Amino acid sequence: MIRQLIGFVFPGGILFFTALVFLNSDKGETWMPSLMRIYPEFVTVLGLIIGWRFNRSKLVFFTMILTVFALSLRHFSEGKMAVHGLGHDFFYVAAILLPLNFLFFFVIKERGILTFHGIFRIVFILIQFPLVFFAFQIQDFPLRVYLEYSFIPKAVSLPNRLPHAVYAAFGILFIVIIAAIIRKQRAFENGFFWATLSVFLGLVYSQSGSVSLFYLSSAVLILAISVIESSHSMAFRDELTGILGRRSLNDYILKLGSTYTIAMVDIDHFKKFNDRYGHATGDDVLRLVASILSEVGGGGKCFRYGGEEFTVVFPGKAAKDAVSFLEGVRERVASSVLTVRNKKSNRSKQAKKRVAVTISIGLAEKDGLFSTPEEVIHAADKALYRAKKSGRNRIIG
Ligand code: GH3
Ligand code: MG
Ligand code: MG
Repeated sequence: MIRQLIGFVFPGGILFFTALVFLNSDKGETWMPSLMRIYPEFVTVLGLIIGWRFNRSKLVFFTMILTVFALSLRHFSEGKMAVHGLGHDFFYVAAILLPLNFLFFFVIKERGILTFHGIFRIVFILIQFPLVFFAFQIQDFPLRVYLEYSFIPKAVSLPNRLPHAVYAAFGILFIVIIAAIIRKQRAFENGFFWATLSVFLGLVYSQSGSVSLFYLSSAVLILAISVIESSHSMAFRDELTGILGRRSLNDYILKLGSTYTIAMVDIDHFKKFNDRYGHATGDDVLRLVASILSEVGGGGKCFRYGGEEFTVVFPGKAAKDAVSFLEGVRERVASSVLTVRNKKSNRSKQAKKRVAVTISIGLAEKDGLFSTPEEVIHAADKALYRAKKSGRNRIIG
């Protein structure tokens, strides 16, 4: 739970609050004019480059949407347009289009940038604002009627005169994002929440164009950083189970001190399990075992070593002190209940079935005989082999 919360707030939330504090500080007021001369252009280039290099078309699209929106706003709210009230109406329509675009590009699948789908999407982003502009040129076009449609009761005090449809669109968008965060708990979705909040504040609460632009630009920055963050977790976390992966283990063992214990954990007869219930259920078993292992306690840190093997490292602990925690884990796995769908039985029939999943554990500690982490891992592996030989579902150290 704590980890999820940290993942949610870091780094998107931190950036968001930093932007908020900056805006409301004295520094913000004095630096704003010079900052805004470079900030929007800077984050646009940053968003496009990171989106392209990290292969995240969505970041490219969001950057484009926000940039096109900001540019059109700047264009239509100046000079002749503003005099004819067109700037205002355009802002209203654009403020509705923005969350709808966010929603659309949030839910669609990643399909590349310079692909058929990607180019189609780019054209879609680029033409909508000119289209709106032409729609306003047509006499008697009923766009304004829609803009004025209100459904929020008068008793609710709104911060400004934006069409109610803007609030409705953002409301739906936030619900979809929060549902995705709860379901996926990934860096990009978390970042997207803060970016959307920043855009919302930019549209709804800002008193001036430059404050608005600051919020929109900060949204691009938040998204770009969250893409970097998600690539970081991709490199260091195992995608299937969400726990730390082999690369993290390699880094972690470099930092170990003079006392530690390493346990190698392997699921028993996992191949048979896969054959019997299918690979998808096998993956569920891996997730289950990983989640039990990651709560081993006693300061033990769990990694997916590869396949159906895990490693638990106890820094500062001798083997005799780590055994009881591992014993607890072994018992919890053995008594766990997993919902499985039998591959051979009726597809739609899902029986809650108690399946026998067990693990074998081999452990070794650093001592005179095994002095490097690699040697300790090797010794733990040998102990694991002995645990398998002597009947499985047991710990040998
Ligand atoms: P033992 O008790 O001796 O460990 O037997 P075992 O069947 O668990 O051992 P073996 O090493 O022969 O089989 C490991 C199996 O784990 C083979 C492979 O299909 C499966 N496996 C490895 N990685 C994954 C994965 O990511 N998902 C799924 N579903 N299966 C995996
Ligand atoms: Mg194995
Ligand atoms: Mg196995």
